[in-house]
Amino acid sequence: MTKFEALGLQKSLLDAVSDMGFETPSEVQEKAIPILLEGETDLVALAQTGTGKTAAFGFPLIQKIDSNSRTTQGLILSPTRELCLQITNELQLYSKYEKNINVVAIYGGASITDQARQIKRGAQIIVATPGRMKDMIGRRLVDISKIDYCILDEADEMLNMGFFEDIKDILSNTPEEKSTWLFSATMPKEVSVIAKKFMHSPQEITVGAKNSGVDTVQHEYYVVGGRDRYPALKRLADTNPDIFSVIFCRTKRDTQKVAEKLIEDGYNAGALHGDLSQNQRDMVMNAFRKKQIQMLVATDVAARGIDVDDITHVINYQLPDEIETYTHRSGRTGRAGKSGISMVIVTRSELRKIKSIENKIKQQFVAKKIPTGMEICEIQLYHLANKIKDTKINEDVENYLPAINDVLQGIDREELIKKIVSVEFTRFFNYYNKAQDLNSVDIGRGERGGERSRGENSSDGSVRYFINVGEKDGYDWMSLKDFLKDTLDLGRDAIYKVDVKESFSFFNTEASDTEKVLSTFTEFKVDGRFVNVEVSKTPGGSGGGGANRGRRFKDKGRGGKDRGRSKGRDRSTSKDNASHSGKRRSKKRSDFF
Ligand code: ADP
Ligand code: MG
Repeated sequence: MTKFEALGLQKSLLDAVSDMGFETPSEVQEKAIPILLEGETDLVALAQTGTGKTAAFGFPLIQKIDSNSRTTQGLILSPTRELCLQITNELQLYSKYEKNINVVAIYGGASITDQARQIKRGAQIIVATPGRMKDMIGRRLVDISKIDYCILDEADEMLNMGFFEDIKDILSNTPEEKSTWLFSATMPKEVSVIAKKFMHSPQEITVGAKNSGVDTVQHEYYVVGGRDRYPALKRLADTNPDIFSVIFCRTKRDTQKVAEKLIEDGYNAGALHGDLSQNQRDMVMNAFRKKQIQMLVATDVAARGIDVDDITHVINYQLPDEIETYTHRSGRTGRAGKSGISMVIVTRSELRKIKSIENKIKQQFVAKKIPTGMEICEIQLYHLANKIKDTKINEDVENYLPAINDVLQGIDREELIKKIVSVEFTRFFNYYNKAQDLNSVDIGRGERGGERSRGENSSDGSVRYFINVGEKDGYDWMSLKDFLKDTLDLGRDAIYKVDVKESFSFFNTEASDTEKVLSTFTEFKVDGRFVNVEVSKTPGGSGGGGANRGRRFKDKGRGGKDRGRSKGRDRSTSKDNASHSGKRRSKKRSDFF
């Protein structure tokens, strides 16, 4: 594999690379960096979100500018304020060992005088949103007449957002002989127009198939009735206790409404949309980065460019109008080498849209069922048991132990465990006990083979299993599927519906493989640790089973606070998870209860 050294980067940048923990260049970096370093050229680079485009232009730019001169030499245009700040931040990290390089961010919603002052001190690189940039040019607060490099980042999105005229104006203030580097996830007509109009025989690089989604993302859809979107969303969240997600709505109003409902129902949620003040948006984004918010409900425009790497799920509360937008949405997850899941909640009438998206992204969706109440209860129960097991003991409890012991006197271990677990579990149980099946009957998709039709029903001969390894042990749905496939020596499609939770997972096989699965995982050890597989008590995706055929479950936000889940539950960060794996011991599920 090519290392960064081979790309022609200077020592100071290589040091920064290693400080950032980058080991191998991504494909777009491997292709773009040598081209940009070698000579003066225009470049069009197409690569998905999350493929490291910032470094692909950032490193060559920093290497090429003259740090002894204070003249502005590089201009980066990017669609949103959030992106501007992220790029600026990254460039500052890349240039940490360079002397006297100033990177200044220019964006709307903040003091223009402050920004002008920063520019005046000498900014070799300006990172700007088109609107504010045009404004500052008009007021003669910046001089970009001597730039050597102009970078159009996320060009497709800038044009989507209607910045064409602004970009044209800005470019007319730059010298003819500069180099222009255009980076984009997709290549719609508008982008080719820009390339034709403003660039001189650009070199072109494409990473992966044009317009296709990132293949570290699994795409899933759930068919529900139009009024069941919200309860369905809740169930998806409840089946993934460690969810860290962006939920996309179509309008600002829906975004606000869904976020408010979630908060009312006790989830760690927040809204991000254009009607919020800049200050409110910053607060939400900060809380999200710190994972104080687990579910960020956002509009497409506001969420554009959110650069948070470990988003586990993207949930399309409603499908976007444009298929292209779906690519952007799902690209928020599965970044930086991790895998992710993009879920779509659809009504039956929207099913054909799924088909068009599949054609566009050249990836198949997996048809999934909204989990039943009992499936959620099972998951929450194991999650809770694992949480108790992994909870660090607070030694200050010691002082109160005698008194506590008095209170709990005469309760044996088994009973005590049942009681402890019930404290939290009962909430879920009461909430979901009589909950209705939310799945709309899925017609017309049954004939499509592969994972979907097989995994859907337990009545069709599919068996769901519980396995006591999860994210903590370094698995995601892809790697667990691979592990199972290899261990069981089964074909690629024999293992499906792999759902990886923090410390345990579920998967399905055909009933005919059950014996093989269970016998393989008898006394099975990995690194000295027992890996235990059992048939799940609630076969996944069973849909309209007996337990959930109760009264229609009314989902009113109000009064839901103490149902479902408690506010501010702690979630461990992925870092914590990684460090646990060594200590974990295998436990039979029956040990818990
Ligand atoms: P894009 O602009 O293509 O959407 P970014 O430039 O925002 O992607 O990069 C996505 C993430 O990947 C960032 O957190 C970045 O720090 C990280 N990253 C970039 N290049 C590498 C690399 N070579 N190795 C590891 N991580 C990388
Ligand atoms: Mg980018």
